Amino acid sequence: MGDTCRATVRVTGTVQGVGFRPFVYRTAVDAGVTGHVRNAGETVEAAFEGPRDAVERVVTALRNDAPPLATVERVSVDWGDPLGDEAFEIRDSEADAGGGIDVPVPPDTGICDACLDDVRDPASPYHGYWATACVDCGPRFTVVRDVPYDRTRTSMAAFPLCADCRERYETPTDRRYHAQTTACPDCGPTLRYEVDGRSVTTGSEALRRAGAALSDGTIVAVKGIGGFHLVCDATDPDVVASLRERTGRPAKPFACMVPSLDSLRGVAAFDSTEADTLTDVRRPIVLLEKAADSSWLDAVAPALDTLGVMLPYAGLHHRLFDYVSGPLVMTSANRPGEPMCTTADAVWSRLDAVVDGVLAHDREIVARCDDSVIRVVDGDERFVRRSRGWTPTTLPNPVGGDVSPVLALGPERDATVALATGEGVVLSQHLGDIDGPDARSFHRDAVDHLCTLTDIEPRTVACDRHPEFLTTAEADRYAADGLAGPVAVQHHHAHAAGLCAEHGVERAVVVTADGTGYGTDGTVWGGEILDARYADFERVGGLGPFSLPGGTAAIEHPARVLASLLDSPELVDERLVETGAVGSRAAAETVRQQAEKGVNAPTATSAGRVLDAVSALVGACDRRTYEGEPAQRLEALATSGTVHPLSLQYRRANGRRVLDTPALVADLAEMLSSQSAADVAATAQAALARGLGTLAVEAARERGVGTVGFTGGVAYNDAITRRLREVVTDAGLAFLTPAAVPPGDGGIAYGQAIVASARASGERKRPASSEDPGG
Ligand SMILES: [Zn+2]
Ligand SMILES: [Zn+2]
Repeated sequence: MGDTCRATVRVTGTVQGVGFRPFVYRTAVDAGVTGHVRNAGETVEAAFEGPRDAVERVVTALRNDAPPLATVERVSVDWGDPLGDEAFEIRDSEADAGGGIDVPVPPDTGICDACLDDVRDPASPYHGYWATACVDCGPRFTVVRDVPYDRTRTSMAAFPLCADCRERYETPTDRRYHAQTTACPDCGPTLRYEVDGRSVTTGSEALRRAGAALSDGTIVAVKGIGGFHLVCDATDPDVVASLRERTGRPAKPFACMVPSLDSLRGVAAFDSTEADTLTDVRRPIVLLEKAADSSWLDAVAPALDTLGVMLPYAGLHHRLFDYVSGPLVMTSANRPGEPMCTTADAVWSRLDAVVDGVLAHDREIVARCDDSVIRVVDGDERFVRRSRGWTPTTLPNPVGGDVSPVLALGPERDATVALATGEGVVLSQHLGDIDGPDARSFHRDAVDHLCTLTDIEPRTVACDRHPEFLTTAEADRYAADGLAGPVAVQHHHAHAAGLCAEHGVERAVVVTADGTGYGTDGTVWGGEILDARYADFERVGGLGPFSLPGGTAAIEHPARVLASLLDSPELVDERLVETGAVGSRAAAETVRQQAEKGVNAPTATSAGRVLDAVSALVGACDRRTYEGEPAQRLEALATSGTVHPLSLQYRRANGRRVLDTPALVADLAEMLSSQSAADVAATAQAALARGLGTLAVEAARERGVGTVGFTGGVAYNDAITRRLREVVTDAGLAFLTPAAVPPGDGGIAYGQAIVASARASGERKRPASSEDPGG
């Protein structure tokens, strides 16, 4: 054969579960070379045989033309003599490689540039077609029923390929070769527009009708990839107000979809990192700083300095913007406490009073999947929600080994579930709040779907320690079905263990600050400093305890918390009445007595509640209408404030060093008489960060631990994160923050899976070692 050769190639980077092997196959066959490709550990390994220039062309293509979701970091090549391979094949993966669970189903992605070009090209058979997809793009996780991943096991099975599509599907050099969701206007799904539950028109006319309805200021439900959105013209405050009224969301920020990056200028500020994230083919919602003060921005995200924005991702969205100029509000279509609707029937039966029309299609959504949400905090990207586009990719399990598979059921709010083996952890899509029958059945479906896709049969079940969570009851049910456990994992330990695990750090002192988590002593934790390892932890410091007069009422009316934190009856009564927490001065006194005597006033150490109380103190938020509202409004107010010096006081509580929160709030209240509310807000955040950071550094030094972490919902706060990092790095310690896993409760299932894996691994090792130090 003259100058033939064999190149053995290793590709490292993000190359698994992203369509890389089919791409290698296509490229090799296209170039006429033989050999194979397979996943090996965290890398992709391939061999190419053929004329030297053809093999070199393939190797160059690996570096330069990788599919959109792949990131090629390095391509190493060993040249050798040909072995005589006669064809090119995709081989099974090396099973023992420890490079993560081999999930054969990739995540959903937005339409790729090549497919969008087809949609825009009048000469293309896909011209104008909203549902075209190729091997690099389109729905995946949301349409797959079972593995192996093949069209017959997806909801695309209902659309047999036409002759032309089949030919492309069977042509190795075509972009649609073995693209399971490929479709064209002749054979693929169709669109329809519905009014009052009945289809009134189809195809492009359906898009035109939906566009006209949106331009007319009405609310339309639009079926996307993972579910329905409620959509309206974002720049029309009247329709946004009507959406708020009809959905009972008086102040919750709505995400927007804008037609292009250019159209975002003047609306929100973004740097190059944020631009890259917005244009990532997975198309998450990105929380950006508002660029202007305008009435429509204030209607969409009231009293906040941020706006959630995304670019069109489904072909359908791009086509919709042919008929409406945007920006559009795009918020999940669900009733409070229920998961997002995935069928037009569900929209009409549940949201009939909300929507004026429905733009739907007939491609069934097998697995509901909400949009992912990302915020850049202190220069780094954080998942507010890790869902569409990232599910079902694998996260690390540093415990490793042959631990028996764990099913972790998550917490109650913002839940996800996770499946873990020694190879890695697969985290589900966002499941929302698991507090009703519909949410519970979604939770069960998500577990089943994930087990099916990963082919993992869990042996141990893990859950939160909270005895009253529905997810805890679910864990008991799985245990009754024969799974070991439930392994009850303390909420903040799950946060901390997850942070350590994603970075492969076995031990760290972790500041875990959030709203609520059930403590080992039965009180409400949330401002904790933990000396954390994978299997266990020690609570070494944090915020001093205070009370929540009225229990959950104190969460809805944050001024109630002031009654516990602030020993200034006059001011407390005033704030209680002014904010509407109580109706009269007499009632205010009752709240103070509740706090004093501890009657119907659970004990808490929650950082979220302290921020809420300060928010009520400075007048940033009277009443919480959605999760995190008081703290987010405080953060927005603080951006225009200046931090003033404040001396902090510490004391001991139950053997721990804690920040004296009543002393802090008293100082802030005094400062309010001479400084602006914005300054007090900024000072409060800085003080909380400095206090927790100082205590964490002290604990780390005392214990000889070199790393301090920060996680929990408060870790979304940019100012607090920056200040904490300063305190930690100034002390010469390493600082860890969540990168791959949400710091909020969406990351809890991951942490639970790690803790349960570590405990199982410890138990397995115990008989072999007579002196187990335990922990
Ligand atoms: Zn494509
Ligand atoms: Zn076709």
